[in-house]
Amino acid sequence: MPASDDVLTALVEFVARTDRYEPDAPIHTELDVNGVRLTVRAPVARALAEALRAYHDPRDHGRCDHCGSHQMDANFQCRECGRLSGLFGQMVAERLDEYAEPTALPGQRKLPAGSGDVPHGG
Ligand SMILES: [Zn+2]
Repeated sequence: MPASDDVLTALVEFVARTDRYEPDAPIHTELDVNGVRLTVRAPVARALAEALRAYHDPRDHGRCDHCGSHQMDANFQCRECGRLSGLFGQMVAERLDEYAEPTALPGQRKLPAGSGDVPHGG
């Protein structure tokens, strides 16, 4: 189904769903969608405006606290400045500031990076 047909179907269904509560309300406007004329009564117009304002794009993760861009990824890291934003970002930044490399216990030799604690066979 082309996007324009999808829009028309959604609008027709929205008007029908909303119109049934006040079918005699005054006509606000008429819309022409691909040659199909839709009568939009006042309550439908208000509901449509409200629905459009309430829409939240799932790709919108808010505004960056640091640079103000709307380029936050799903992990609240800004694609513009690279910083973490929001409460989660603040918490991670604070934890990183407090983080110190653990000191070796007496008698414990420091293992080379990446060797882990798993003994190697052989
Ligand atoms: Zn930013």
